[in-house]
Amino acid sequence: MARKESRQARAARTEKIFERLAAANPAPKGELKYINPFTLLVAVVLSAQTTDAGVNKVTPALFATADTPEKMAALGVERLAERIKTIGLYRTKAKNVIALSRAIVERHGGQTPRDREALEALPGVGRKTASIILNMVFDQVEIAVDTHIFRVANRTGLAPGRTPREVEDALTANTPPEYRKDAHHWLLLHGRYVCKARSPACPKCIIRDLCEYPHKTPARASPAKPMRPVRRRRAPR
Ligand code: SF4
Repeated sequence: MARKESRQARAARTEKIFERLAAANPAPKGELKYINPFTLLVAVVLSAQTTDAGVNKVTPALFATADTPEKMAALGVERLAERIKTIGLYRTKAKNVIALSRAIVERHGGQTPRDREALEALPGVGRKTASIILNMVFDQVEIAVDTHIFRVANRTGLAPGRTPREVEDALTANTPPEYRKDAHHWLLLHGRYVCKARSPACPKCIIRDLCEYPHKTPARASPAKPMRPVRRRRAPR
């Protein structure tokens, strides 16, 4: 059971967590490759239930020929699907990317929209994707909650919640203002590389002492020294 913590103690702990994450990585960056707001939007849509590394394998060649919604729409579903077929759910994603490209041309004059409602109205774009675009492209303070952030927020006790939206709201409310803009990247990278789903690297975690997770991975015990055989003294005859 989680221990009871006063509001002040929680605020102080949260501050320290972000202080340490910020000191370790003062300018955190996302890992998806992109060249403009539109290609970031496409990369984020392609990354659903797929690793960033997998998306980065196909996007440089794709964006070299289709870096605008007009060019992407001209590619068509079949040719796009062929180019992204190594990533999960590629057929559905190809349909969404072509549909969203057409919608951006028709409804927004070819410009990636800068408000949440318009972004979420695009095919394949949900709250998380819209938050990432608003944060990274339009400099708005938004905390997108993906699977890594959901896990870290719950394990540490930073922002417990049963749904991504609950976690997002708690993070937005609890994170000190100076850390809100980069909170998404710090927590995501921490979840991806340290606080991993199956075996969190608790022994080397820089916020271990501030984390409430009751099932932290224990440090490995150093191998026991082999015991010397005990020499029996011969009994005197
Ligand atoms: S101590 Fe373990 S569970 Fe807590 S944040 Fe670090 S890696 Fe995650």
